[in-house]
Amino acid sequence: MKKTIRDFDLYDKRVIIRSDLNVPLNNGVILDDNRIKESIKTINYAIDKGAKVIILSHLGRINSQQDKIKNNLYPVSLRLSELLNKKVIFSNETRGTVLEKIIDNMKPGDVVLVQNTRYEDFPIKKESGNDINLAKYWASLADIFINDAFGTSHRNHASNVGIASNLPSGIGFLVEKELKMLGKELTNPISPYVVIMAGAKISDKIKVIENLVTKADYILLGGGIANTFLKAKGIDLKESIYDKDNLDFANSMLAKYSDKIILPVDGYGSSSYKDGLEVVYSDINNIPNKIMVLDIGPKTVELFSKYILSSKTVFWNGPLGVCEFKNFEYGTREICKLLVNSGAKVIVGGGDSASAAIRFGYKDSFSHVSTGGGAALEFIEGKKLPGIEIIEEK
Ligand code: ADP
Ligand code: MG
Repeated sequence: MKKTIRDFDLYDKRVIIRSDLNVPLNNGVILDDNRIKESIKTINYAIDKGAKVIILSHLGRINSQQDKIKNNLYPVSLRLSELLNKKVIFSNETRGTVLEKIIDNMKPGDVVLVQNTRYEDFPIKKESGNDINLAKYWASLADIFINDAFGTSHRNHASNVGIASNLPSGIGFLVEKELKMLGKELTNPISPYVVIMAGAKISDKIKVIENLVTKADYILLGGGIANTFLKAKGIDLKESIYDKDNLDFANSMLAKYSDKIILPVDGYGSSSYKDGLEVVYSDINNIPNKIMVLDIGPKTVELFSKYILSSKTVFWNGPLGVCEFKNFEYGTREICKLLVNSGAKVIVGGGDSASAAIRFGYKDSFSHVSTGGGAALEFIEGKKLPGIEIIEEK
């Protein structure tokens, strides 16, 4: 068993909590604050115990100066302060004398949020590369390290694995809940077990199918992942996205598991990746020229419903269409409805799928909505998560 935050005496200790405050932002406006809300329990616990709470989180990816402006954590500090009902001191520095001074002046119960850890990724990837000196420096600012960022636990970064290598460490309440829920429902899932995989991060996710297909009874595919399989079958996708590097992989999966892998039969599309243009419906075999398919259609929903409604366990990752656009939210909404009607244990993993489930009002209808995408997928594949492995045992 891993140590948890409950196993430490926190009073007057400097405690780094690695939270996952990686929320979608548009020009500084938070589009979905679920990850902040899910992080509150651990932070409040540390405050109540009289810790000096130092919060670290990444936000987006930083490959340029421009990315820094886009992915500034400051707006998150304001929302965090509202949710905690407490002042949150924001350090614009990820290291240096200003940050050190702020921490020196902290009193028990104070909270500091440090600027985006991935500012340390430009110009050299120190955070994502788990730079030893950076990890040691951050560790030097605290007495105890708590990993509560489930969504990055599959990464070997300075702000999780690096700091944990240099300090007494435990997991927070969110990580504890994620491990319990994903472990309980998906380690030995009750069959029929259906996996739904869709979305756009094709190359990151497609290989997981090789593992999940051996555990699940059926895998229903949508989005760019389905497209890659359809293309491999020789279907002309016109302008739709797919991953050309994984056509051979898709073919090999279809050769072995064609009865388990269920693909869309129709879809809604558009002439470009935009909302508000004319919506074009077609069978998948008959996509008109210059059209990209951006959602599944009613025949696919009907086909998928047979599998979903007779399932006992479902793991769902990735929106079935471009559900951020009004014109293409149909498929994702319909799948949410079917999931609720199925009565199955439903686990949702994936940033965008979780956002959609919450936005459509289904958060409390599902057994668990994970804050992690890649981390949830790797966990249910049975892989070890470095951010968890490094935490001390009880
Ligand atoms: P998650 O965050 O749930 O793991 P991804 O990040 O893989 O999911 O994919 C989410 C994105 O996939 C969404 O922004 C959605 O617009 C996009 N998407 C879904 N279907 C399609 C499609 N057919 N074509 C292009 N993009 C799609
Ligand atoms: Mg995503």
